[in-house]
Amino acid sequence: MLAEDRTVLLSGPDIGPLEQEFVLAALRSGWVAPAGPDLDLFEREIAARVGVPHAVALSSGTAALHLALLGIGAGPGDVVVVPTLTFVATANAVVYTGATPVFADCDPATGNLDPDLLAGLLAELSAEGARVRAVLTADLYGSCADYGRILPVCDRHGVPLIEDAAEALGATHRGRAAGSFGRAAALSFNGNKIMTTSGGGMLLTGDAELAGRARHLAGQARLPAEHYEHAEIGYNYRLSNLLAALGRAQLRRLDEMIERRRAVRDGYAKVFADVEGVRLPGGDDLAANCWLTCIAVDPERAGWQARELAAHLAARNVETRPVFKPMHLQPVFAGARTALSGAAERLFREGLALPSGSALGDDQVRRVLDGITEFLDGRR
Ligand SMILES: *Cc1c(COP(=O)(O)O)cnc(C)c1O
Repeated sequence: MLAEDRTVLLSGPDIGPLEQEFVLAALRSGWVAPAGPDLDLFEREIAARVGVPHAVALSSGTAALHLALLGIGAGPGDVVVVPTLTFVATANAVVYTGATPVFADCDPATGNLDPDLLAGLLAELSAEGARVRAVLTADLYGSCADYGRILPVCDRHGVPLIEDAAEALGATHRGRAAGSFGRAAALSFNGNKIMTTSGGGMLLTGDAELAGRARHLAGQARLPAEHYEHAEIGYNYRLSNLLAALGRAQLRRLDEMIERRRAVRDGYAKVFADVEGVRLPGGDDLAANCWLTCIAVDPERAGWQARELAAHLAARNVETRPVFKPMHLQPVFAGARTALSGAAERLFREGLALPSGSALGDDQVRRVLDGITEFLDGRR
Protein backbone atom coordinates (compact mmCIF):
# COMPACT_ATOMS: atom_id res chain seq x y z
CA MET A 1 0.00 0.00 0.00
CA LEU A 2 1.28 3.48 -0.85
CA ALA A 3 1.84 5.86 2.04
CA GLU A 4 -0.69 8.26 0.50
CA ASP A 5 -3.40 5.59 0.62
CA ARG A 6 -3.05 4.97 4.34
CA THR A 7 -5.69 6.80 6.35
CA VAL A 8 -4.25 9.39 8.71
CA LEU A 9 -6.00 8.55 11.97
CA LEU A 10 -7.28 11.05 14.49
CA SER A 11 -5.57 9.43 17.47
CA GLY A 12 -4.30 5.92 16.85
CA PRO A 13 -2.34 3.82 19.35
CA ASP A 14 1.42 4.39 19.51
CA ILE A 15 3.01 0.99 20.13
CA GLY A 16 6.63 -0.04 19.66
CA PRO A 17 9.34 -2.44 20.82
CA LEU A 18 9.17 -1.40 24.49
CA GLU A 19 5.48 -2.37 24.63
CA GLN A 20 6.21 -5.72 22.97
CA GLU A 21 8.97 -6.38 25.46
CA PHE A 22 6.79 -5.64 28.51
CA VAL A 23 3.78 -7.64 27.31
CA LEU A 24 5.91 -10.62 26.29
CA ALA A 25 7.72 -10.57 29.65
CA ALA A 26 4.37 -10.58 31.47
CA LEU A 27 3.12 -13.42 29.28
CA ARG A 28 6.28 -15.46 29.85
CA SER A 29 6.13 -14.84 33.60
CA GLY A 30 2.87 -16.78 33.74
CA TRP A 31 0.98 -13.94 35.46
CA VAL A 32 -1.95 -14.12 33.09
CA ALA A 33 -4.99 -14.96 35.18
CA PRO A 34 -5.64 -12.10 35.82
CA ALA A 35 -3.82 -10.30 38.70
CA GLY A 36 -0.05 -10.08 39.04
CA PRO A 37 3.00 -7.96 39.73
CA ASP A 38 2.62 -5.66 36.70
CA LEU A 39 -0.82 -4.67 37.94
CA ASP A 40 0.51 -3.64 41.35
CA LEU A 41 3.46 -1.83 39.80
CA PHE A 42 1.27 -0.07 37.24
CA GLU A 43 -0.95 1.27 40.02
CA ARG A 44 2.06 2.46 42.01
CA GLU A 45 3.74 4.07 39.00
CA ILE A 46 0.61 5.95 37.92
CA ALA A 47 -0.05 7.09 41.52
CA ALA A 48 3.54 8.38 41.72
CA ARG A 49 3.30 10.09 38.34
CA VAL A 50 0.10 11.95 39.25
CA GLY A 51 1.08 12.45 42.88
CA VAL A 52 -1.91 10.79 44.55
CA PRO A 53 -1.75 8.20 47.35
CA HIS A 54 -4.11 5.55 45.91
CA ALA A 55 -4.69 4.11 42.44
CA VAL A 56 -6.99 1.25 41.44
CA ALA A 57 -6.48 -0.19 37.95
CA LEU A 58 -9.77 -0.96 36.22
CA SER A 59 -11.16 -2.29 32.96
CA SER A 60 -12.13 1.18 31.70
CA GLY A 61 -12.31 4.86 32.51
CA THR A 62 -16.07 4.51 32.64
CA ALA A 63 -15.71 1.90 35.40
CA ALA A 64 -13.43 4.32 37.28
CA LEU A 65 -16.07 7.07 37.07
CA HIS A 66 -18.80 4.66 38.18
CA LEU A 67 -16.81 3.48 41.22
CA ALA A 68 -15.74 7.04 42.13
CA LEU A 69 -19.39 8.10 42.18
CA LEU A 70 -20.42 5.03 44.21
CA GLY A 71 -17.51 5.80 46.54
CA ILE A 72 -18.97 9.17 47.47
CA GLY A 73 -22.41 7.62 47.91
CA ALA A 74 -24.13 8.80 44.72
CA GLY A 75 -27.49 7.14 44.23
CA PRO A 76 -31.18 7.64 43.45
CA GLY A 77 -32.49 11.07 44.44
CA ASP A 78 -29.08 12.70 44.03
CA VAL A 79 -28.08 15.29 41.46
CA VAL A 80 -24.62 15.37 39.88
CA VAL A 81 -23.52 18.40 37.86
CA VAL A 82 -21.82 17.33 34.62
CA PRO A 83 -20.41 19.44 31.78
CA THR A 84 -22.61 19.18 28.71
CA LEU A 85 -19.54 19.23 26.45
CA THR A 86 -17.92 15.86 27.12
CA PHE A 87 -17.87 12.25 25.98
CA VAL A 88 -21.04 10.38 26.95
CA ALA A 89 -19.23 8.16 29.50
CA THR A 90 -19.07 11.06 31.97
CA ALA A 91 -22.86 11.31 32.07
CA ASN A 92 -23.53 7.58 31.74
CA ALA A 93 -21.58 6.84 34.92
CA VAL A 94 -23.91 9.18 36.84
CA VAL A 95 -26.96 7.35 35.51
CA TYR A 96 -25.47 3.93 36.44
CA THR A 97 -25.63 4.98 40.11
CA GLY A 98 -29.29 6.03 39.87
CA ALA A 99 -28.39 9.71 40.31
CA THR A 100 -29.52 12.38 37.84
CA PRO A 101 -27.10 14.41 35.72
CA VAL A 102 -27.66 18.16 35.36
CA PHE A 103 -25.75 19.58 32.40
CA ALA A 104 -23.79 22.82 32.65
CA ASP A 105 -22.27 24.74 29.77
CA CYS A 106 -18.63 25.45 29.05
CA ASP A 107 -16.25 28.37 28.87
CA PRO A 108 -16.22 29.27 25.15
CA ALA A 109 -12.41 29.70 25.12
CA THR A 110 -11.45 26.36 26.67
CA GLY A 111 -14.51 24.13 26.26
CA ASN A 112 -14.27 23.23 29.95
CA LEU A 113 -16.95 23.70 32.62
CA ASP A 114 -17.80 27.39 33.06
CA PRO A 115 -17.06 28.29 36.73
CA ASP A 116 -19.49 31.25 36.81
CA LEU A 117 -22.32 29.20 35.39
CA LEU A 118 -21.50 26.46 37.92
CA ALA A 119 -21.68 28.97 40.80
CA GLY A 120 -25.12 30.14 39.65
CA LEU A 121 -26.38 26.59 39.16
CA LEU A 122 -25.21 25.37 42.59
CA ALA A 123 -26.82 28.40 44.26
CA GLU A 124 -30.06 27.64 42.43
CA LEU A 125 -30.00 23.93 43.27
CA SER A 126 -29.21 24.56 46.92
CA ALA A 127 -32.04 27.14 47.17
CA GLU A 128 -34.37 24.41 45.88
CA GLY A 129 -33.06 21.95 48.46
CA ALA A 130 -31.71 19.58 45.80
CA ARG A 131 -29.25 16.97 47.04
CA VAL A 132 -26.19 17.76 44.93
CA ARG A 133 -23.88 14.78 45.48
CA ALA A 134 -20.99 15.90 43.28
CA VAL A 135 -19.65 18.15 40.60
CA LEU A 136 -18.10 15.96 37.92
CA THR A 137 -15.68 17.92 35.72
CA ALA A 138 -14.07 16.69 32.51
CA ASP A 139 -10.62 17.83 31.38
CA LEU A 140 -11.64 18.26 27.76
CA TYR A 141 -9.24 17.18 25.02
CA GLY A 142 -6.37 17.17 27.50
CA SER A 143 -6.72 20.62 29.11
CA CYS A 144 -7.56 20.77 32.80
CA ALA A 145 -10.76 22.52 33.83
CA ASP A 146 -10.22 25.76 35.76
CA TYR A 147 -9.83 24.20 39.21
CA GLY A 148 -8.48 27.44 40.66
CA ARG A 149 -12.02 28.78 40.26
CA ILE A 150 -14.12 25.61 40.33
CA LEU A 151 -12.84 24.16 43.62
CA PRO A 152 -13.71 27.25 45.72
CA VAL A 153 -17.23 27.19 44.26
CA CYS A 154 -17.61 23.50 45.21
CA ASP A 155 -16.19 24.17 48.69
CA ARG A 156 -18.59 27.03 49.27
CA HIS A 157 -21.49 24.64 48.67
CA GLY A 158 -19.89 21.68 50.43
CA VAL A 159 -20.11 19.59 47.26
CA PRO A 160 -17.26 17.16 46.45
CA LEU A 161 -15.56 17.31 43.09
CA ILE A 162 -14.85 14.28 40.93
CA GLU A 163 -12.44 14.74 38.06
CA ASP A 164 -12.93 12.95 34.76
CA ALA A 165 -9.30 13.09 33.66
CA ALA A 166 -9.82 10.37 31.04
CA GLU A 167 -8.29 12.57 28.34
CA ALA A 168 -5.80 14.46 30.45
CA LEU A 169 -3.07 12.22 31.89
CA GLY A 170 0.14 14.27 31.85
CA ALA A 171 -1.64 17.65 31.79
CA THR A 172 -1.30 20.11 34.66
CA HIS A 173 -3.19 23.05 36.13
CA ARG A 174 -1.14 25.63 38.05
CA GLY A 175 1.60 23.04 38.38
CA ARG A 176 -0.65 20.28 39.73
CA ALA A 177 -1.25 17.11 37.75
CA ALA A 178 -4.54 16.20 36.09
CA GLY A 179 -6.08 13.40 38.13
CA SER A 180 -5.09 14.96 41.46
CA PHE A 181 -8.02 17.36 41.83
CA GLY A 182 -11.11 16.55 43.83
CA ARG A 183 -12.11 13.59 45.98
CA ALA A 184 -11.41 11.09 43.22
CA ALA A 185 -10.44 11.08 39.56
CA ALA A 186 -10.72 8.74 36.59
CA LEU A 187 -8.15 8.03 33.89
CA SER A 188 -8.80 6.14 30.66
CA PHE A 189 -6.36 3.92 28.76
CA ASN A 190 -8.71 3.30 25.85
CA GLY A 191 -7.05 2.74 22.47
CA ASN A 192 -7.42 6.36 21.32
CA LYS A 193 -6.22 8.07 24.51
CA ILE A 194 -2.86 9.67 25.31
CA MET A 195 -1.59 6.25 26.39
CA THR A 196 -3.32 2.92 26.11
CA THR A 197 -3.66 -0.52 27.64
CA SER A 198 -5.85 -1.34 24.59
CA GLY A 199 -8.72 -0.83 27.02
CA GLY A 200 -8.52 0.14 30.67
CA GLY A 201 -8.75 2.85 33.23
CA MET A 202 -7.74 3.88 36.71
CA LEU A 203 -9.36 5.42 39.74
CA LEU A 204 -7.17 7.87 41.66
CA THR A 205 -7.87 9.21 45.12
CA GLY A 206 -6.33 10.44 48.34
CA ASP A 207 -9.10 8.71 50.28
CA ALA A 208 -7.92 5.26 51.43
CA GLU A 209 -11.44 4.15 52.29
CA LEU A 210 -12.81 5.14 48.88
CA ALA A 211 -9.93 3.29 47.17
CA GLY A 212 -10.54 0.16 49.26
CA ARG A 213 -14.24 0.27 48.52
CA ALA A 214 -13.59 0.65 44.77
CA ARG A 215 -11.18 -2.29 44.85
CA HIS A 216 -13.78 -4.39 46.66
CA LEU A 217 -16.63 -3.52 44.29
CA ALA A 218 -14.40 -4.03 41.23
CA GLY A 219 -13.80 -7.65 42.26
CA GLN A 220 -17.49 -8.65 42.41
CA ALA A 221 -17.60 -7.46 46.04
CA ARG A 222 -16.15 -10.79 47.05
CA LEU A 223 -15.54 -11.08 50.78
CA PRO A 224 -12.46 -12.94 52.02
CA ALA A 225 -13.96 -16.41 52.38
CA GLU A 226 -13.10 -19.57 50.50
CA HIS A 227 -16.68 -20.26 49.50
CA TYR A 228 -17.25 -16.91 47.66
CA GLU A 229 -19.17 -14.78 50.15
CA HIS A 230 -20.99 -11.65 48.92
CA ALA A 231 -22.90 -9.12 50.99
CA GLU A 232 -23.64 -6.66 48.18
CA ILE A 233 -23.69 -6.32 44.40
CA GLY A 234 -20.26 -5.93 42.85
CA TYR A 235 -18.77 -5.55 39.38
CA ASN A 236 -16.15 -7.25 37.24
CA TYR A 237 -14.06 -4.14 36.71
CA ARG A 238 -10.43 -5.16 37.33
CA LEU A 239 -7.69 -4.64 34.76
CA SER A 240 -5.64 -7.71 33.84
CA ASN A 241 -1.93 -8.08 34.53
CA LEU A 242 -1.11 -8.40 30.81
CA LEU A 243 -2.77 -5.09 30.01
CA ALA A 244 -1.07 -3.45 32.99
CA ALA A 245 2.27 -4.53 31.52
CA LEU A 246 1.34 -2.71 28.30
CA GLY A 247 0.40 0.31 30.40
CA ARG A 248 3.75 0.29 32.20
CA ALA A 249 5.61 0.45 28.91
CA GLN A 250 3.35 3.25 27.66
CA LEU A 251 3.83 5.21 30.88
CA ARG A 252 7.59 5.15 30.34
CA ARG A 253 6.98 6.81 26.98
CA LEU A 254 4.26 9.20 28.13
CA ASP A 255 6.38 12.37 28.10
CA GLU A 256 7.80 11.57 24.69
CA MET A 257 4.28 10.93 23.35
CA ILE A 258 3.03 14.22 24.82
CA GLU A 259 5.94 16.07 23.20
CA ARG A 260 4.98 14.59 19.86
CA ARG A 261 1.33 15.63 20.23
CA ARG A 262 2.47 19.10 21.25
CA ALA A 263 4.62 19.35 18.11
CA VAL A 264 1.64 18.30 15.98
CA ARG A 265 -0.47 20.97 17.66
CA ASP A 266 2.25 23.57 17.00
CA GLY A 267 2.02 22.71 13.31
CA TYR A 268 -1.71 23.45 13.31
CA ALA A 269 -1.17 26.64 15.33
CA LYS A 270 1.24 27.84 12.65
CA VAL A 271 -0.88 26.92 9.64
CA PHE A 272 -3.94 28.70 11.11
CA ALA A 273 -2.03 31.59 12.73
CA ASP A 274 -3.10 34.28 10.30
CA VAL A 275 -6.37 32.76 9.19
CA GLU A 276 -9.30 35.03 9.95
CA GLY A 277 -12.05 33.45 12.07
CA VAL A 278 -10.12 30.31 13.10
CA ARG A 279 -8.87 29.60 16.62
CA LEU A 280 -7.58 26.62 18.59
CA PRO A 281 -9.81 26.20 21.66
CA GLY A 282 -8.21 24.79 24.80
CA GLY A 283 -6.19 25.87 27.77
CA ASP A 284 -2.56 26.78 28.07
CA ASP A 285 -0.75 24.62 25.47
CA LEU A 286 2.22 24.02 27.75
CA ALA A 287 -0.01 22.78 30.58
CA ALA A 288 -2.19 20.60 28.31
CA ASN A 289 -1.22 17.13 27.14
CA CYS A 290 -2.50 18.12 23.66
CA TRP A 291 -4.50 14.88 23.37
CA LEU A 292 -6.67 16.21 20.53
CA THR A 293 -6.16 19.51 18.76
CA CYS A 294 -9.41 21.13 17.65
CA ILE A 295 -10.07 24.23 15.64
CA ALA A 296 -13.17 26.41 15.92
CA VAL A 297 -14.23 28.14 12.74
CA ASP A 298 -16.47 31.20 12.82
CA PRO A 299 -18.08 30.91 9.34
CA GLU A 300 -19.00 34.61 9.26
CA ARG A 301 -15.39 35.71 9.60
CA ALA A 302 -13.65 32.79 7.89
CA GLY A 303 -16.00 32.55 4.93
CA TRP A 304 -16.07 28.76 5.22
CA GLN A 305 -17.28 26.08 7.61
CA ALA A 306 -15.38 23.47 9.59
CA ARG A 307 -17.25 20.69 7.82
CA GLU A 308 -16.01 21.88 4.43
CA LEU A 309 -12.44 21.45 5.60
CA ALA A 310 -13.41 18.02 7.01
CA ALA A 311 -14.73 16.97 3.59
CA HIS A 312 -11.60 18.27 1.85
CA LEU A 313 -9.38 16.25 4.20
CA ALA A 314 -11.58 13.14 4.04
CA ALA A 315 -11.06 13.08 0.27
CA ARG A 316 -7.32 12.87 1.06
CA ASN A 317 -7.79 10.00 3.50
CA VAL A 318 -7.38 12.19 6.55
CA GLU A 319 -9.66 11.46 9.48
CA THR A 320 -11.21 14.36 11.39
CA ARG A 321 -14.14 14.45 13.80
CA PRO A 322 -16.64 17.04 14.97
CA VAL A 323 -16.26 18.32 18.53
CA PHE A 324 -18.38 16.22 20.96
CA LYS A 325 -22.09 16.69 20.50
CA PRO A 326 -23.23 18.23 23.82
CA MET A 327 -25.04 15.87 26.17
CA HIS A 328 -28.16 18.06 26.38
CA LEU A 329 -28.61 17.58 22.59
CA GLN A 330 -28.34 13.79 22.82
CA PRO A 331 -31.65 11.94 22.43
CA VAL A 332 -30.82 9.77 25.45
CA PHE A 333 -30.67 12.86 27.70
CA ALA A 334 -33.64 14.70 26.21
CA GLY A 335 -35.48 16.60 28.93
CA ALA A 336 -32.52 16.69 31.32
CA ARG A 337 -32.04 19.83 33.37
CA THR A 338 -29.47 22.26 31.98
CA ALA A 339 -27.67 25.52 32.67
CA LEU A 340 -26.69 26.79 29.23
CA SER A 341 -24.94 29.76 27.69
CA GLY A 342 -24.81 28.46 24.13
CA ALA A 343 -21.02 27.98 24.21
CA ALA A 344 -21.06 24.18 23.88
CA GLU A 345 -23.55 24.24 21.02
CA ARG A 346 -21.40 26.76 19.23
CA LEU A 347 -18.23 24.69 19.69
CA PHE A 348 -20.12 21.66 18.41
CA ARG A 349 -21.24 23.61 15.32
CA GLU A 350 -17.92 25.28 14.63
CA GLY A 351 -15.39 22.79 15.97
CA LEU A 352 -13.31 20.12 14.28
CA ALA A 353 -10.82 17.72 15.86
CA LEU A 354 -7.72 17.18 13.70
CA PRO A 355 -5.33 14.21 13.57
CA SER A 356 -3.31 14.50 16.78
CA GLY A 357 -1.86 11.07 17.57
CA SER A 358 1.74 10.62 18.69
CA ALA A 359 2.15 7.75 16.21
CA LEU A 360 1.72 10.13 13.25
CA GLY A 361 4.82 10.14 11.09
CA ASP A 362 6.31 13.37 9.75
CA ASP A 363 5.04 12.42 6.28
CA GLN A 364 1.50 12.05 7.61
CA VAL A 365 1.60 15.36 9.47
CA ARG A 366 2.91 16.95 6.27
CA ARG A 367 0.01 15.45 4.33
CA VAL A 368 -2.53 16.93 6.74
CA LEU A 369 -0.87 20.36 6.79
CA ASP A 370 -0.56 20.40 2.98
CA GLY A 371 -4.23 19.42 2.72
CA ILE A 372 -5.17 22.32 4.98
CA THR A 373 -2.97 24.80 3.09
CA GLU A 374 -4.48 23.65 -0.20
CA PHE A 375 -7.98 24.13 1.21
CA LEU A 376 -7.15 27.60 2.58
CA ASP A 377 -5.54 28.65 -0.71
CA GLY A 378 -8.72 27.62 -2.50
CA ARG A 379 -10.75 29.98 -0.26
CA ARG A 380 -8.58 33.07 -0.52
C1 LIG B 1 -12.62 8.13 26.96
C2 LIG B 1 -13.39 8.88 27.96
C3 LIG B 1 -14.07 8.25 29.01
C4 LIG B 1 -14.25 6.78 29.12
O1 LIG B 1 -13.12 6.02 29.15
P1 LIG B 1 -13.20 4.48 28.69
O2 LIG B 1 -11.89 3.95 29.14
O3 LIG B 1 -13.38 4.47 27.21
O4 LIG B 1 -14.34 3.87 29.41
C5 LIG B 1 -14.69 9.03 29.95
N1 LIG B 1 -14.70 10.37 29.87
C6 LIG B 1 -14.09 11.01 28.87
C7 LIG B 1 -14.13 12.50 28.85
C8 LIG B 1 -13.44 10.30 27.86
O5 LIG B 1 -12.87 10.95 26.84
